[in-house]
Amino acid sequence: MKILVLGSTGFVGQNLYARLLKDGCDVVGSSRSDGTDLLDYAQVKKLIESVQPDVVYNMATHGGSMMYVREFAADVYSDNVEMALNVYKAIKEVNTRIKVIQPFSNCSYPGDSSVQHEEEWLNGQVHDSVFSFGNSKRAIYYFSQCYYNQYGIRTVNLLLPNTYGPGDSCDPKKTHALNGMIIRMLTAKKSGDEKFVVWGTGSPIREWAYIDDFVEALVRAIEIDHMEYPINVGQQKGYSIIDSAKMIKDTCGFKGPIEFDTKFPDGDPVKILSSEKFSELFQDFEFFDHKLGILNTVEYYKERI
Ligand code: GDP
Repeated sequence: MKILVLGSTGFVGQNLYARLLKDGCDVVGSSRSDGTDLLDYAQVKKLIESVQPDVVYNMATHGGSMMYVREFAADVYSDNVEMALNVYKAIKEVNTRIKVIQPFSNCSYPGDSSVQHEEEWLNGQVHDSVFSFGNSKRAIYYFSQCYYNQYGIRTVNLLLPNTYGPGDSCDPKKTHALNGMIIRMLTAKKSGDEKFVVWGTGSPIREWAYIDDFVEALVRAIEIDHMEYPINVGQQKGYSIIDSAKMIKDTCGFKGPIEFDTKFPDGDPVKILSSEKFSELFQDFEFFDHKLGILNTVEYYKERI
């Protein structure tokens, strides 16, 4: 089986690519840094024609923190939709037996949900703070369904919680809060800052997926023939931002007090993914220990900050 990973230098993409190589898979990675622009249809078609994959992991995404996706709303929305659409159009032209596997962020859920159940995924507007990013993922879902209905192109879509772990950007504006706070706290420690400032009130609750868990779910998704309506890669476990900041503080040994800058928006109050369907589908799945995940991530960023 031949596998093509698009966005193979991004946070999830690079971890997935490394795992597939380690497993001895026949895998090709592609990213903007090796000269492939997924916004250019001709390049996407040429790539798929030359690799002739059985499975395409569409890990290419334009995203970041909620400040980022608001500031660059038009670019975020149109880049995500256009890149994915180019992939489906090229598969339609080259070989409709190629299967697509791709992640959708939990911010594509309605903004007022607490525990996010798959059957309620589209029952309401995404939160204003992530309007561009969340809606771009819904758009990709809609056309994955249309391409299945008309051309029989199979897709496996997965919904993921906020992801963290080694391999992410060193820019806290481009990462989710857990990696973001690790980066900022290590920077604060290095520069001798007296206090650490959490963006917002610290009260939002988030579920955290360690990168290895998400990669494992993506690898197992190969076994699923077609599942365009996504299921959650969920543990149904949430941590407040303040509790997450305290765990990071204990791990990286920052001594000062934690304060809050409420000029920053909070976003969704609660985002926890229902785990029912996932645990039914992957009964033996064991999630990574959260404290160890934070420790590994602190170690990763220590070498880079
Ligand atoms: P969200 O799930 O789309 O809201 O994304 P984030 O993971 O980026 O943010 C979750 C919450 O953490 C928000 O309330 C942020 O304001 C807050 N937060 C606190 N400190 C940080 C930080 O350093 N980086 C980020 N990205 N968010 C932070």
